[in-house]
Order: sequence, then structure tokens, then C-alpha cells
Amino acid sequence: MPFRIHPKSLWQATSRLATVSRVTNQTPHWIRQYAAPTMEQRNRTAIVTGSSRGIGKAIALRLAQDGYDVCVNDVPANKSGAEEVVSEIKGMGRKSFSYMADVSNLQEVQGLVEASVSELGALNTMVANAGIAQVKALLDLTEQDLRRMFEVNVYGVYNCYSTAAKQMIKQGNGGKILGAASIVAFKPFALLSHYSASKWAVRGMTQAFAMEMATHKITVNAYAPGIVGTAMWDLIDEELGKMKGAKKGDTIKKYSSELIALGRTSVPEDVSNTVSFLSSPDSDYMTGQTIVIDGGIIFT
Ligand code: NAD
Repeated sequence: MPFRIHPKSLWQATSRLATVSRVTNQTPHWIRQYAAPTMEQRNRTAIVTGSSRGIGKAIALRLAQDGYDVCVNDVPANKSGAEEVVSEIKGMGRKSFSYMADVSNLQEVQGLVEASVSELGALNTMVANAGIAQVKALLDLTEQDLRRMFEVNVYGVYNCYSTAAKQMIKQGNGGKILGAASIVAFKPFALLSHYSASKWAVRGMTQAFAMEMATHKITVNAYAPGIVGTAMWDLIDEELGKMKGAKKGDTIKKYSSELIALGRTSVPEDVSNTVSFLSSPDSDYMTGQTIVIDGGIIFT
């Protein structure tokens, strides 16, 4: 069984370990110093959209572990999943509640931000994570396919960015705004043209908005996952498989082994680790960036 130490117990043990290392005159290589969170860090709040499952769920749980109170958002069809995430967060001793809203609808996003502020307090971090994918050749796309992709992945991010920023400006203490891009914002995948275009849009909007928000001490960054084993990739795997005559599960295996330098499919926690950093004071001097977390598929 691997030897695991909970970070909290490590931190609590720091003074005892310091004594041990004086005695032996050697610092064991696994000792890390954990700074005690400030009151401000203990009372942070975040909204994570599309967080009933997948990457959003991992982000919501990680931010709760980092000391955030978290508003869990998703569409009504995923309410039960959202409620489970809320229970897990409460089990970690943080405040949480779920709020169902379609991010493509500006009024619903305004309701989401208002509810979060009224339930949890001032908004510190917005993670515009919700997104959809569709596998279809560009020549087969309907106008409705293209429209829905942009309504969720681009208008949805715009709705979250702008509504959160207005709230943060009113509060006057800066903030962190994050959006879900993808590696396809750097190098598109064939048969995912409208999805790829939507993620390029997120990357571009993140850069421009970062410049506009700098005077308000609000940083705006995006994260770009690679091939993460979530419901979204189940769909991509199945649809690409149908087109290329591959069995279910074979496409993601093939892409993972052929494209990813680190040789394994990503898990949501690979992404939430980076989002944790982008939501923490350690990233205060970063803005307008789209950070790739893909195990080494594309290189920026
Ligand atoms: P997922 O499909 O597992 O989860 C997405 C969540 O967003 C779902 O719970 C869904 O109900 C919710 N959602 C969809 N439309 C919504 C809307 N209009 N309003 C509110 N919620 C909505 O996907 P995932 O893999 O966890 O992806 C999360 C984000 O990361 C997406 O933006 C996706 O494009 C991006 N991404 C994923 C991958 C990957 O490999 N899975 C790679 C790159 C980028």
C-alpha cells in the first residue's frame, strides 16, 4: 500500500518534525512547509459551472479542499449529481449549495451570481467550466449545431465572465475569473471544427478581457485540458469510433497512447490541480494566459 500523509496532518506536525530534523541534522526530503491560510483565504467563495460531474466536479471539490465555499452549478437534468457534490463539500466542512442555471442564458447566470453572493458572501472566483462537444464533419453541420455550440461554449463563458466581473468590480477587492478552453484552442481536431472554434474564442476573449480587467485587480485566465476521461470524451470516443469503424473505448486508448507524451489518459484531478493554482494567490501575477494541461500533446 502506498505511504500517504494527509497534508493537514503534515502541517500540524511541522513543529514536531522540526525537532526531529534538528536531532538528526537532516531534513527528510518529503517535508514541506504549509503556510497557515489567512482569514481572507479561509473565507473565499467560488462558483463552478457544469460541476455536477467530470472536470467541474473535480474543480469544485478541490476548491473546497483549498478553503473555498462553493456554489455548484449545472443544468436541471444534472441536479442530483450537483446535490451529491454539495454533500461532499459540506462533508469537508465548507459551505455549499447548488443552483441550476443554463449558462447560455444571461438572466439565469445573473440569477446564479446573485444567489451565490446571497448564500455564500462576496464572490472571489468564477470558474466558467460548463461546455458541450459534438463530433460532426464541418460539411454536415447545421446552423443549429453551430449556434448551440457557441451559445454554450462562448456566450456561456461571456455571460459568466461579464456577470462575475461586474459583481467583483462592485465589491472592489479584485478577483479571479477562469474559463475552460482546450488543447483544440491551439491545434484543432478534425470533425470537431465548431467545438475547436468555440475554444479558440474562449482563449481570445480571455486575453482581451484580462487586459480590460487589470485595472480592477481581476485576473482572467483559462485552462486547456487534453484528453480527459469524462462523459464528454465517452461521447467523442463513441462518435469518432462510429465514423472510423473503431470499437467503443478504442479511439481514446489509441489517442492516449499515440498522442500523449506521458502515456496515459488524463483524469479530472490533473486539471483541478492547475485550476487550484490559478484560483490561489500564487498566480496573482498571471493574467490572460491559457494553460495547457495535457500530458504533453501540444507544446506552447
Ligand atoms: P462533461 O460533459 O463531463 O461535463 C460538463 C458539464 O457541463 C455537465 O455536467 C453538463 O451538464 C454541464 N453543462 C453543459 N451545458 C451546460 C449549460 N448550458 N449550463 C450549465 N451547465 C452545462 O465535460 P468535461 O469533460 O467535464 O468538460 C468540462 C469542460 O472542460 C468543458 O468546457 C469542456 O469543453 C472542457 N474540456 C474537456 C476536455 C476533456 O477531455 N474532457 C478537454 C478539453 C476541454
